[in-house]
Amino acid sequence: MQAPDQRQPAQDTVPQSLYRLGELARNLWWSWTPTARQLFESIDPTLWFLTHHNPVQLLSSVKPERLTTLASDTNIYSGGLGILAGDHCKESSDLGIPLVGIGFMYPQGYFKQRINPEGWQEATYAPFNRHDSPIQQAMTPAGVPCSIKVEIGHRQVTVLVWQVRTGRMSLFLIDTDVPENTPEDRALSARLYGGDQETRLCQEFLLGIGGVRVLRALGINPAVWHCNEGHSAFLTVERIREFVTAGHGHAEASELVRQSTVFTTHTPVPAGHDIFPFHLMDRYFTNYWSQLGLSREEFLGLGETPDSTGHGFNMTALAMRLSAHVNGVSREHGRVSRHMWQHLWPGLAEDLVPIRHLTNGIHAPTWISPEANSLYAKYVSTEWAERIDDPTIWQRVTDLPDHELWSVRQTSRRKLMRFIRERARDGWIRGHLQPMQAIARGTLLDPEALTIGFARRFATYKRATLLFRDLERLKQLLHNRWRPVQIVFAGKAHPADEPGRYFIHEVLSFCNDHKIGGHVAFLEDYDMHMAKYLVQGVDIWLNTPRAPLEASGTSGQKAALNGVINLSVLDGWWQEGYNGANGWGIQPLPDESDTQAQDAHDAEQLFRLLEQEVVPLFYQRDLDGIPRGWLHIVKESIKTIAPRFCTKRMVKEYMRQLYAPATARTPNKW
Ligand SMILES: *Cc1c(COP(=O)(O)O)cnc(C)c1O
Repeated sequence: MQAPDQRQPAQDTVPQSLYRLGELARNLWWSWTPTARQLFESIDPTLWFLTHHNPVQLLSSVKPERLTTLASDTNIYSGGLGILAGDHCKESSDLGIPLVGIGFMYPQGYFKQRINPEGWQEATYAPFNRHDSPIQQAMTPAGVPCSIKVEIGHRQVTVLVWQVRTGRMSLFLIDTDVPENTPEDRALSARLYGGDQETRLCQEFLLGIGGVRVLRALGINPAVWHCNEGHSAFLTVERIREFVTAGHGHAEASELVRQSTVFTTHTPVPAGHDIFPFHLMDRYFTNYWSQLGLSREEFLGLGETPDSTGHGFNMTALAMRLSAHVNGVSREHGRVSRHMWQHLWPGLAEDLVPIRHLTNGIHAPTWISPEANSLYAKYVSTEWAERIDDPTIWQRVTDLPDHELWSVRQTSRRKLMRFIRERARDGWIRGHLQPMQAIARGTLLDPEALTIGFARRFATYKRATLLFRDLERLKQLLHNRWRPVQIVFAGKAHPADEPGRYFIHEVLSFCNDHKIGGHVAFLEDYDMHMAKYLVQGVDIWLNTPRAPLEASGTSGQKAALNGVINLSVLDGWWQEGYNGANGWGIQPLPDESDTQAQDAHDAEQLFRLLEQEVVPLFYQRDLDGIPRGWLHIVKESIKTIAPRFCTKRMVKEYMRQLYAPATARTPNKW
């Protein structure tokens, strides 16, 4: 890894010889580097646990005496930096691909989920503490803090830029919360959700158009521009404006932009595609289209979709028109996207629509448990993480000693149970939880029982409550004295998604039902930290999307890497990952339109698999207490999934199939 190249002012409490510890804490590189994580843990294991693995907070909370002791130990860290900003960015850093990211500051963060005593999700927005976070103000090449003005409609909005270092790459975050701005404009970058359509349009104006200007102000001139989802698609028109201003005709400018733009669409769910009404587009773009060499009609035509003519400006349509390199995020999602967007290429047969697929993967060093990491280092390769996309090294998984693999699985499950208990205890101590509610948070879960995990956003198409369609059958599974089953749920619903909130309420009512005996738990406030415990600690990763709405999904890939077996509808990545021997798949009905029939069919398959295959196999132990048949599937799953569904393979494919072709046709000047 490249050494950090910027001095970080050390905190008062950190002794001179540990200055670079602060620097390490402020680069997300630590988060996927086991030695760096161990280093922070070794400073104070309890604080490490209590800060939910936040090294910046750890360093500011640790007793000064402890740091003084450490300062005399010269061998305590091996260099590098780190904070977590997305598996794609981390992998790009690992692979040495020069990539920068641009996004919003969101000082109020993503919302925190609280469950009220009646079992309803409440969203709270706690301002996050910049001093506990690995961010700093971004500097221009002239060495001054980067600040620009963007005119949004008739308003001048001042934008500050923050920098998050992620290994070798940087993420730049737009912040409008500065005194020069009106309260409305200050709120633009405050939070992800909560604004109306007009706020959202202004946010996307800022991200796309402001984003290009921020990069220019920072002296960064990318060869390829990747719109990761349609929200940033205004960057295409801003780049056309730049070319037109520099003297190119509109058609030529537009083609230059197209050839150097990559667009990834991430969902077939309609709510994932922004459509802005024309009167709002007029309000913010009236002064803009002439700068592109376009009339109003021509400009609005860029976001037109034949089936919604007159209804609005579709950001995905804009991105598709102005990108020559378009992809969906799994084989199945590629197919679904070609079908969905065929109308943008009238006269072209569906399978010739120029949308390819590039299947998602996960950044293994981020998601691997310490136990599995050691096991793979011992039996697969000491460099398994660097060589993860080489299938030959994974053949060695066949020879992993069963008792060692089983011991890793048991340890991870017990760690999850400890995490769950500590969360519940903490909630009780702080007065958030009544003792009875603590049971619904998982205090009675059995560290040795077959544990099913279901953790993801509570969007309705993910059907969290599919198993509740037959309560009697479910209870029979959970209550079996010899072969008990337990389920752990976690996930947030979009605050405006009433059906999603209702699903959470339904799960909680079920958890609170005393006849369930504490076999079902709902964990509050799902985030990456909790996700790590879950994808490492459960035995079965359950995923029940209503096909074909799961574009890819990645949490099952995290689970598989850690020896957890997938039981999932054959949709998204699992449709190409499942081989008949590496987990369990539910084949959806061919008729996607009859959702009632689909739900009934999928629930029936799910129960059948659990009753006849999953549960018996898990409890079928030999004289040493080891479930050989189960471990056989675990091995097949690790072997086939780890090398394919990782960001090492994914980012290399982005490089070869999308970024490189886009670079080849970019004029040097840009
Ligand atoms: C991986 C992950 C996701 C994505 O999960 P899917 O089941 O693939 O949709 C969502 N939230 C968190 C916290 C994650 O770690």
